Amino acid sequence: MGFATRAIHAGFDPDPLTGAVMPPIYLSTTYEQTGIGENRGFSYARIANPTRKMLQDCLTDLEEASFGYAFSSGIAAEDAVLRMLRPGDHLLFSHILYGGTYRLISQVYSEIGITSDYVDASDLTAVESAWQPETKMIWLESPTNPLVTITDIAAVSKIAHAKGGLCVVDNTFASPYLQHPLALGADIVTHSATKYIAGHSDVVSGFAATSDPDLAEHIRRVQTIAGGVPSPLDCYLVLRGVMTLPLRMDRHCANALEVANFLDGHPAVAKVNYPGLSNHPGHELAARQMSGQFGAMMSVVMAGGAEAAKKLATSLKLFAFAESLGGVESLVSYPPTMSHSMVAGTPLAMDEGLVRFSIGIEAVEDLIYDLAQVLDGLA
Ligand SMILES: *Cc1c(COP(=O)(O)O)cnc(C)c1O
Repeated sequence: MGFATRAIHAGFDPDPLTGAVMPPIYLSTTYEQTGIGENRGFSYARIANPTRKMLQDCLTDLEEASFGYAFSSGIAAEDAVLRMLRPGDHLLFSHILYGGTYRLISQVYSEIGITSDYVDASDLTAVESAWQPETKMIWLESPTNPLVTITDIAAVSKIAHAKGGLCVVDNTFASPYLQHPLALGADIVTHSATKYIAGHSDVVSGFAATSDPDLAEHIRRVQTIAGGVPSPLDCYLVLRGVMTLPLRMDRHCANALEVANFLDGHPAVAKVNYPGLSNHPGHELAARQMSGQFGAMMSVVMAGGAEAAKKLATSLKLFAFAESLGGVESLVSYPPTMSHSMVAGTPLAMDEGLVRFSIGIEAVEDLIYDLAQVLDGLA
């Protein structure tokens, strides 16, 4: 069945008890057991919850995975995966990645003796030479946040496997509609479902999926034993959001391409980072690896540097100046002091002239008008 059909129907049928067509929100924390050691698949809601199961089954299907687990946040899903590492293990991560992932690795995991290094994962030779005997895992994003660089997921997975390690891909920016890392060879895929999957900036949620039964068992155990599970209401909100993922993504991507083309020609803008533009170094790879569209995240480097960047980020009327991404509404942010403040002063620090956009699904001419109003004054 097509993706759009599965986004609406995978994971649940009309409720057999009532005929409810939309997924019921099961708030009950406990479930009557049918006998000693026997139940209907549910006993206590941290271990399993029917609404969560519907969500997991739907997202697992959309990611073309065999197993998938929902978490209370994207970071909780990442944490469940990273807990596979043991003291003494080494982790490689792509040098451009979500700031919160960097913080989790560099603070929480370094404290328990897991060493890590960053590498430009879009450079395969660099990945090969950065790999150490203790390296157990490489953690990637493609497209990355916020420079939207593209990494060859199949090639990096191959290197990881040849070295006996795992390749994990944070697929948040692409969403399962635009990219299937597991099909490309990755071992585990993670999501901040807070972003495109839920799509309305009203729920924090995470997801991790794999087709490897042993890796799945690890993630399942952390989910139920450590307990970073989403509430039934949150599961419902994500399910409700994901039903329109294909529609929203088509519009997000179409709007983004138009906005990128507009920005690319503007004299106030020194550089546009958007993989849909043919001048982007990852354009051809993205065209091959993604489903023919390039997502709706982009960033620009302003010709006027930090001052112009701050002015642009705070002067737009339609774009809210805010963290996060992937909702129906357009957002603008200033990564050096927002999403990437934790890498300031390190070699991973962002260009001070950088401004990031999450392009929403509004009428694109209104978005371009809003941008032009401010950019024309900065040119
Ligand atoms: C937001 C985000 C996360 C973290 O997810 P939360 O739901 O905020 O915990 C991880 N990776 C990327 C790429 C993100 O954008």
